[in-house]
Amino acid sequence: MIGPARPHRRTFLARALAIAAAGFTTPRSVAAIGSPRFQSPPFSLGVASGSPTADGVVLWTRLAPEPLGDGGLGDEAIAVRWEIAHDERFARIARRGTATAEPGRAHAVHVEADGLEPARDYFYRFLAGGEASPVGRTRTAPAAGARVARLRLALASCQHYEQGWFTAHRHLVADAPDLVAFVGDYIYESSWGREHVRKHHIPEPKSLSAYRQRYAQYKSDPDLQAAHAAAPWLVTWDDHEVANDYADDRGQDLAPDFLARRAAAYRAFFEHLPIRPSVLRPDGEVRLYGAHGWGSLATLLVLDDRQYRAHQACPRPGRGGSNTVGPDCEEREAPGRTLLGAAQERWLDSALADSKARWNVIVQQTLFATAGRDTGKGRVHWTDGWDGYPHARARLLDSLARAEAANPVILGGDVHANYVCDVHREAGRPGSPVVASEFCGTSITSQGPDGKRTNAVRESNPHIHFADGTRRGYVLLDFGPEATRAKLRVVDTVKQPGAGISTIASFAVEAGRPGVKPA
Ligand code: FE
Ligand code: CA
Repeated sequence: MIGPARPHRRTFLARALAIAAAGFTTPRSVAAIGSPRFQSPPFSLGVASGSPTADGVVLWTRLAPEPLGDGGLGDEAIAVRWEIAHDERFARIARRGTATAEPGRAHAVHVEADGLEPARDYFYRFLAGGEASPVGRTRTAPAAGARVARLRLALASCQHYEQGWFTAHRHLVADAPDLVAFVGDYIYESSWGREHVRKHHIPEPKSLSAYRQRYAQYKSDPDLQAAHAAAPWLVTWDDHEVANDYADDRGQDLAPDFLARRAAAYRAFFEHLPIRPSVLRPDGEVRLYGAHGWGSLATLLVLDDRQYRAHQACPRPGRGGSNTVGPDCEEREAPGRTLLGAAQERWLDSALADSKARWNVIVQQTLFATAGRDTGKGRVHWTDGWDGYPHARARLLDSLARAEAANPVILGGDVHANYVCDVHREAGRPGSPVVASEFCGTSITSQGPDGKRTNAVRESNPHIHFADGTRRGYVLLDFGPEATRAKLRVVDTVKQPGAGISTIASFAVEAGRPGVKPA
């Protein structure tokens, strides 16, 4: 058994009611209008693709002539034609069809295109009412078991709109990744941080319509649109897609209607990202976790550490959410505490056992290696990350060991800093063997910790080889049969548009030798 079942804090019915109140139901079917007249350009939020398989990909767009309001299309369903071609001029069409943009889904469409060839680039676009969308480029995965020379993956997270320009996305496009992994904080619900370069146009969202407006504002950014149009994405979420530091059914403010707010936020997330409609489960669960194959080279295991987690240990009085705690917080060490939930832990255990890939890449939200700090009052830990759930981390390491998973590489975000780590079999015991390698990527824009803080973390943790929270950017990883190389890409500034890019450090992991080395 992998951890005990979660206590039943709420019934299925209570959850279902909260979901229904937020309207998270299948849209009714309506006769779609084939040739509407748009008052302004309908493809204002760009296009996107995601979750590639060897024969298909999800294509996304949302019709929104008035993106910062209610979308501008009222209650009509609208027919949207889609095309996938081998060439950018759409002379050689591979697949085409018609989807319906439903008002109940904010006129978003999620096309699950299939019948494509493996390991190929494709171009796609949408057509509605005489208007054509921008053209996106996507790529199918290599066939299961196929030999693959390289997977180039860009790892990104944490893009506070007010705190900076999304210039990193523009450079990410120039780096030509096969795949982008975005690991959370795609939007921020609240306004915080220093030196804002632009403003959220509405206050903190709590309703479906407000979350839709927040997503639409972020998605109106041309650099973000360019990154979506350049490659397929794999996505998971962290807390700010809903609210800071939430855990399963509990927000940090302990609001009694949190589940209804969460359902509204989850729905708006779905409506704005290229994820498969099958992620929407009948009881309101949005199942983002899953395995994505890249031939014989890599299996990418995308996790969700927000939706199913135990509440954070030892919160401040009268609050939920994170805290920094010392040895007196016994709850943190309780063996049954879960970060992934029992069902996801079981799934991960068997997905790792089934994987025959050269690299097993765990794509999750936050810093995995322990990062406690030694202080006068003993070692302190931040309770929102894996350090708040040490037994859950140990169970994941047990799963890796049981599966004899080849070459585990753990990717993360959330902490607005680059951390490059060796992951030991027993967290915090330098003498135990190194079993995995970790790259936790810095934020696209969100403000990070200062040098004093990251230095203190590094000095307390010999397995952390690199730590820097002062720079914004993304991580570019090249997985190959013999080695994986990672470049920490950082922009000169996020406070002015058009900044340059550089690599502050590069690391390599050799196949068969867990652990990171400078490269
Ligand atoms: Fe963040
Ligand atoms: Ca976060």
